[in-house]
Amino acid sequence: MTTDTDPQQRLTGIGVSPGQAAGPVVAMPAPVAEPPVGATLAEGLDAEQAAEQIAAASSRAQADLREAASRASGAGKEVLETTAMMAADPSLVSAAQALVRGNRLDPARAVWQSAATVIEQLSALGGYMAERTRDVADVRDRIVAALTGQLPPGVPDVDHPFVLVATDLSPADTATLDPARVLALVTSEGGPTSHTAILARALGIPAVVGTAGATAIPDGTVALVDGTAGTVTLDPTPEQVAHAAALAARVRTFDGTGRTSDGHRVPLLANVGKPEGAQAAADAGAEGVGLFRTEFCFLDRTDAPSVAEQVAQYRQVLAAFAGKKVVVRTLDAGADKPLPFLTSTDEPNPALGVRGYRTSWRNPEVLEDQLTAIAQAAAAETADVWVMAPMIATVPETAAFVERCRAHGLSTAGVMVEVPSAALQSGQILAHAAFASIGTNDLTQYTMASDRMLGELATLSTAWQPAVLQLVAATCRGGAQNDRPVGVCGEAAADPALAVVLVGLGVATLSMTARALPDVAAVLGSVTLATCQELAALAVAADSAEDARRTVRSRLPLLEELGL
Ligand code: PEP
Ligand code: MG
Repeated sequence: MTTDTDPQQRLTGIGVSPGQAAGPVVAMPAPVAEPPVGATLAEGLDAEQAAEQIAAASSRAQADLREAASRASGAGKEVLETTAMMAADPSLVSAAQALVRGNRLDPARAVWQSAATVIEQLSALGGYMAERTRDVADVRDRIVAALTGQLPPGVPDVDHPFVLVATDLSPADTATLDPARVLALVTSEGGPTSHTAILARALGIPAVVGTAGATAIPDGTVALVDGTAGTVTLDPTPEQVAHAAALAARVRTFDGTGRTSDGHRVPLLANVGKPEGAQAAADAGAEGVGLFRTEFCFLDRTDAPSVAEQVAQYRQVLAAFAGKKVVVRTLDAGADKPLPFLTSTDEPNPALGVRGYRTSWRNPEVLEDQLTAIAQAAAAETADVWVMAPMIATVPETAAFVERCRAHGLSTAGVMVEVPSAALQSGQILAHAAFASIGTNDLTQYTMASDRMLGELATLSTAWQPAVLQLVAATCRGGAQNDRPVGVCGEAAADPALAVVLVGLGVATLSMTARALPDVAAVLGSVTLATCQELAALAVAADSAEDARRTVRSRLPLLEELGL
């Protein structure tokens, strides 16, 4: 795209998952287009042959899905296997073939129309069946793509590592991201604390979101993605590529003790989603779990999990952290993490709706069961179990939650501070709660009134915003008044420069994706507590998030040395 003498073309966005990687760009395919309404077979074409094409296209789609599932792992494998099963159901194919034979409809149009009928029927049944409409649409798109020569939907199945460029990724696409093939991720939309960004970080894939012009990069162009700086350099020089590879090859580890250079202890903990990730977090040196997102165990469930099922899942995490602290968060259902058995789908503003702790107003038995399960799991394991509720907004909510935990023998009960009202009332809240953990992702969303899912608002959606830092400081003051610890478990804790600021503001523990532990530990270990406090004061006093970030980063030389 550029010659040796051209200035390099560099796109900028928001870096959401650190690290650098270079490779050829592969774009997510455009959505499969709907075949024209009423399209029929051309005169002279044999309807029987056309009907056979549908069966052949369906077989191809099934084979592709099974192939992809056999190579995938974890959640991605499950998604692909479910879709492959759906593709094997003969009813869609036979309904479409009937339309071709009976009405001489064009095969692609016939598939589209038959799928519409199936989707309508499943939607009417509600519950689990309604959730399968997404799979039917996916199968429809794959068959139509095969019939019309379009690219199949989803993460492209190419046989070499690549930089994936997309407008944004759906949860199903995200689940099929394979870090062995996707070197880096660039999106033109998508917010910095969306679950796409969180997953990219957990997988260790450098990612830049909100990148204007990303979708215009031609396939095959070599791009160097810097997920720390938030830049995408097209046609990088061999030296730049070599530098990125050298940085990526540098393996950093965490010795299991977070501290500043003058020995101020800051325990570094891990965020855990699915229980399977707990052992890896323990192996990475995490001093405990600062956030166990329990809703991740039950995202695809239409009915509430039984107490026994929950105990089995929770014990897996507690067992990986025997004798260590594990903060279990009660179900944070709603908004971007709907749980069909707990949240309704018809709220106009789900992020401001009945989510998190609020779901227990309507379904108190679900919280009761969960607390019963957590208590049983805690009794069976040796981990030091702390419990906290998400989306707490008031003092009475805190008192009620702590009381319910006590009734189950769970004595270390705390709250997440994610709503500005909770930060402002942290003094009273922490008179009841044993601890607070600041969810900076949501605290930023609600402070800045900017949807965390929207890439367009990415410059607002950052915990570097001085207003967010002021609320962190207010929460720490509330903690100090009551001699209660305040931690941070939002994505801010995984940004080494911001981690330094948070410690300077009085945050006692930092919880993050296990992959961020070595970087945060290294940078924190390069400064004294007094420096943390100085940098925190500068950040809070800054006029803008960008100023705060620039000022703090310019005073942390280790960042550049480590390529962070
Ligand atoms: C947060 O909001 O910062 C948080 C940790 O919770 P989640 O990202 O799961 O909403
Ligand atoms: Mg949250």
